[in-house]
Amino acid sequence: MRSLFISMVTAMAACHSTPVDWSPGTVYLVPVGSPTDAEMKRAEQVLGVLTQRTVRRLPRRPLVRAAEHLHCPQGVPCYDAGAILDDLLDEPPGDTFRIVGVTEAPVSSSVGRDSIAFARHYERAMLYTTSTFVSLPPDEAHARTRQIVSHELGHTFGAEHCEGPCVMQPRLNQELTTSACPLHRRHLVDGLSQSIDGARFLAAVGRERGRLGRWNGAIVAYRHALRRQPHVVEVETNLAVALMARERYLEARDVLDQASYYSPKSPLPFYVRAGLYATQAAPGRAAAHLESGVNRDPNPPNAHRLAGVVYQDVLRDDTAAIHHFRLHLSVGGRDPEVLGRLAMLLTPTTFVFTDPEVVVVQYDEHQGLMWAHAGWGHPPEESGW
Ligand SMILES: [Zn+2]
Ligand SMILES: [Zn+2]
Repeated sequence: MRSLFISMVTAMAACHSTPVDWSPGTVYLVPVGSPTDAEMKRAEQVLGVLTQRTVRRLPRRPLVRAAEHLHCPQGVPCYDAGAILDDLLDEPPGDTFRIVGVTEAPVSSSVGRDSIAFARHYERAMLYTTSTFVSLPPDEAHARTRQIVSHELGHTFGAEHCEGPCVMQPRLNQELTTSACPLHRRHLVDGLSQSIDGARFLAAVGRERGRLGRWNGAIVAYRHALRRQPHVVEVETNLAVALMARERYLEARDVLDQASYYSPKSPLPFYVRAGLYATQAAPGRAAAHLESGVNRDPNPPNAHRLAGVVYQDVLRDDTAAIHHFRLHLSVGGRDPEVLGRLAMLLTPTTFVFTDPEVVVVQYDEHQGLMWAHAGWGHPPEESGW
């Protein structure tokens, strides 16, 4: 942890040398429910050291009501970490770098039933519960907090779990690991060196606001990101989607035209344009843009799968859907959804594939979809399904 801390500080120092663009933002700390004051002080101190930013406390928030979810341990109602994160992100202050909820209540989440802490990749909120370490002596509780906060910060910077030994190893309740492997150290240093005014940070804020259906906030963030770094086709297409969600179709079309002008090889603007024309009841134009997107897509199996689904579900053109599903198979795709859809569209029919593995698919009106997966290199047996 010491070396991690030093490299973080080095990164901070490097960033301070360009004061014009670098705005660190603020880390906001929110008591959720009734965590003790000692735990809030501990969180404040740990966050200050780890992020090298000002930490400010926001007023206490009530826990989002306990309910029964599929993921509750032992079927007992629990506090859903995802719902609490969304609540933290409801209207965070404009200069939020990260917003951190601390609760004393047991929480759980649909992802891995992690009942200690939770954060979503590239979003600004994180949450942890003190319920597992309230009984520890202060220095152990401090180390535990530092470990949990580092781990969840890592997730907010996009880090996945790690085999370890590393602070990103999945089981936080195992023995304390306080240092990061080289890959994740870089992840943390890189994430902490971000400015809240930087293009990458703003684009992530746009996606976060969009996921929450806060389209106006998303539009502002994407536009800001594009002023910082123009002509990033992923950001432009995300902006167009946000504009479409607000029914600002003309603006969306302008953004997409500009995206295609500067990134002519990218399929993304064509896909979004296909969606735009589909919503405006112009299926012919939608199809033309969909085909242009597929022709540019560097991942043909994926492109034909997408095109087939759009033709079948949105444009109601089964013939074109079949055509693309067949192309998906001919370029080596074996997506189960494609196989299932194609079997239904072509019924009665039976598909048998032997490369790269043996798969047999049949659709029957009475029996529904039948599927046999015989594993690598073994021919299917007549009675096997
Ligand atoms: Zn984790
Ligand atoms: Zn690691």
